[in-house]
Amino acid sequence: MMNQVSNQRDSMRLRYPDSLGERSNATTLAAALGGPVFVVDRVAAPRSRPGILLLDDDPFMLGVQSRMLLDMGYPKVSTAGSAEAAVRMLQREKQTFDVILCDLNMPGMDGIEFLQILNASSFGGNVILLSGEGVRIMHTVQKLLDGGRMVILGVLEKPAARAALRAMLDCWRPLIAAKPVGPALLFTELELHAANRERQWVLHYQPKVDLKSGELAGMEALVRWNHPEHGLVYPDSFIGMAEDCGAIDALTEWVLQEAMAQLARSHGQGLRIQMAINLSMENLRAPDFAARVGTLARDLGVSPQDVMLEITESRLMSPSPAPLESLVRLRMQRFGLSIDDFGTGHSSLAQLRDVPFTELKVDRGFVTGARHNQIIRPILEGSIGIAKRMGMRVVAEGVETEDDWHLLREIDCDLVQGWFIGRPMAEDEVPLWLEQWELRRPHLVES
Ligand code: C2E
Ligand code: MG
Ligand code: MG
Repeated sequence: MMNQVSNQRDSMRLRYPDSLGERSNATTLAAALGGPVFVVDRVAAPRSRPGILLLDDDPFMLGVQSRMLLDMGYPKVSTAGSAEAAVRMLQREKQTFDVILCDLNMPGMDGIEFLQILNASSFGGNVILLSGEGVRIMHTVQKLLDGGRMVILGVLEKPAARAALRAMLDCWRPLIAAKPVGPALLFTELELHAANRERQWVLHYQPKVDLKSGELAGMEALVRWNHPEHGLVYPDSFIGMAEDCGAIDALTEWVLQEAMAQLARSHGQGLRIQMAINLSMENLRAPDFAARVGTLARDLGVSPQDVMLEITESRLMSPSPAPLESLVRLRMQRFGLSIDDFGTGHSSLAQLRDVPFTELKVDRGFVTGARHNQIIRPILEGSIGIAKRMGMRVVAEGVETEDDWHLLREIDCDLVQGWFIGRPMAEDEVPLWLEQWELRRPHLVES
């Protein structure tokens, strides 16, 4: 079976052409840096240390930061005193720059223009914004660049502290060649209804673990479409459409049935865990939804306390009180209710005020890399504080590194989920994951 989304990065890098002369207006440069002039070069093994280009109009800062980088053990550090010079270097140099440390406020072409040009080109390297403009401005610039191929490793105030710079440079990955992005998969109403009839769904499970003990606390069931033509299709490609065409009710019913049956099997094997199941707001409009979920749990011998229903609201709730009624009825039956992706979209303080949630799940956009991020860290800590004061359990999703893990322990989060702990996996992969996790766990919980 072919996976539509592959997490593997191959060891490819870009080689720059060396014959672009001294052209310096922005449009010409963008064209010069773009498409066909780049050739893809496969390397046998990625370099262990990135080649760094430091771009700043302040010669003193260039001197200080380049010496620091050399001291830190990065042997390949080049400097550019202007964005125009940096573009010329990118065109001319035979070596590849893996990471660009970029100032924002520069005379002539400023950092924003430089990065937008780079982002529109085939440059697939990594960038760290390093500026005296304050982290909030830099974050907005980071947002402006979202969606391009360039990877922004993070933002730092000048002069950058060693530890923070090292943490970001540790996240550097070798450049990858531009992969042709296929058109987004669009499914028709008919295909979704057929998928429901033919049960083309499959569940993968992602662990949620307790931060104090490291013990497995639960699993989140995540649906995939085992598509006869496209292979495994991920939910972001079809949940919205399923909601629009009414296929979401049968889909959710299948997920509830399958995930609760899995929970009963796990309990039967002595694994005392909770099962988290994602619900769509659309599901909650049916007046008998809560009663049906209750009946299903009873039939499968599952206790509602062991089921955590995760709710994300991707669109504004209609004035109808039906979804709120369903949520209250589910809670009265003792199902857990989790506000998923907290901090994004409509998953907000107003929802927290109006719905009797028992768990708050902080969106991964406020978790991954939070230790060195002065914008998201206060939001993460604030969300944890709000949840605690409201007597809710807090889960952080998007824990990708050991650094994320330790920060969350320090700031008193309850549970975590993310690639650092385990990716979503098929049912039969869980025992092996658990075995390996038990080996990693002791080292992660000693303090
Ligand atoms: P979600 O409920 O917030 O699920 C977490 C998503 O983040 C999953 O994507 C998971 O694979 C991904 N993820 C987990 N750990 C990490 C990490 O460390 N880093 C990063 N970058 N990502 C991580 P997935 O499986 O593609 O699901 C996407 C969304 O689709 C889910 O977000 C959920 O809102 C929705 N969804 C999944 N299954 C169902 C379902 O059965 N019913 C409904 N209505 N929605 C579902
Ligand atoms: Mg979820
Ligand atoms: Mg989420």
